[in-house]
Amino acid sequence: MKIIKTISEITQFLQQVRQQSIGFVPTMGALHAGHLSLIQMSKTKTDITICSIFINPIQFNKKEDLDNYPRTLDADIQKLEKENCDVLFLPNVSEMYPTNKLNTYNFGAIATVMEGAFRPGHFDGVANVIQRFFEIIKPTYAFFGEKDFQQLAVVKELTKQLNLSVKIVGCPIYREPGGLAMSSRNERLSPIERTQASIIYRTLQKIKNEYSTYTTQQAKENFNSAMRQAGFVPEYIEFADVNTLQPIENWNETSNCFAFVAVNVGNVRLIDNLSIF
Ligand code: AMP
Repeated sequence: MKIIKTISEITQFLQQVRQQSIGFVPTMGALHAGHLSLIQMSKTKTDITICSIFINPIQFNKKEDLDNYPRTLDADIQKLEKENCDVLFLPNVSEMYPTNKLNTYNFGAIATVMEGAFRPGHFDGVANVIQRFFEIIKPTYAFFGEKDFQQLAVVKELTKQLNLSVKIVGCPIYREPGGLAMSSRNERLSPIERTQASIIYRTLQKIKNEYSTYTTQQAKENFNSAMRQAGFVPEYIEFADVNTLQPIENWNETSNCFAFVAVNVGNVRLIDNLSIF
């Protein structure tokens, strides 16, 4: 695997392989099997797979979250080597943001609810870094996890607004054996918290099985009380249409409903989602 740290070096590399299809998997490192499933998807669909590891400071709305974000570069390199990833792109902050000028965006209602409401500025930060990566790499395909479902929708909208030819591929959520969605942040949970946190997925599954016997409000209350009983602090649960991402009040407002949740386990904030019907 080539490890490339500068834009000029990756541009040079890309010139040599431009005839082939390029798959791009952007990450912030602390790689786990969920990230590797994206690399595997890229390997099956494209000729050259480029993974980036860049902890994007401007998408963190809390400094403490940025400071505490896990950093495991040596282990990440080993995992990528094992997957036969072709290139690891490791730019630094000044390569990515040579000036202080950032773009502002209007993604409409998909970006103002849930993560957009609870993490002000987050999606602008994500969009800036993804736009920059897309301009540098000009990938044929880019792979994003459905764990960050709203982010995937924002990236698709960004691509549409900028008229880019890159094809955005959404990949299913990879879960730990107990059901907890894999996340770099899981590394910050204690072993007990990590086991207990599978209650998030189990409660979502229970809602999926029983939703028709409850109102949306009752289902939300059930979720919140299950989280509190486990000692967690639920931040939000919304039921929303899969395409518009707009929350619904009644089940009959959509024919394709997902549950979206954010829960604080100690000082670790976890998100998850599940198709309800
Ligand atoms: P991150 O390093 O958290 O920015 O994630 C990089 C990419 O991996 C994003 O597209 C995430 O949605 C995706 N990802 C993270 N966790 C998972 C997971 N458990 N299953 C599938 N994709 C994931």
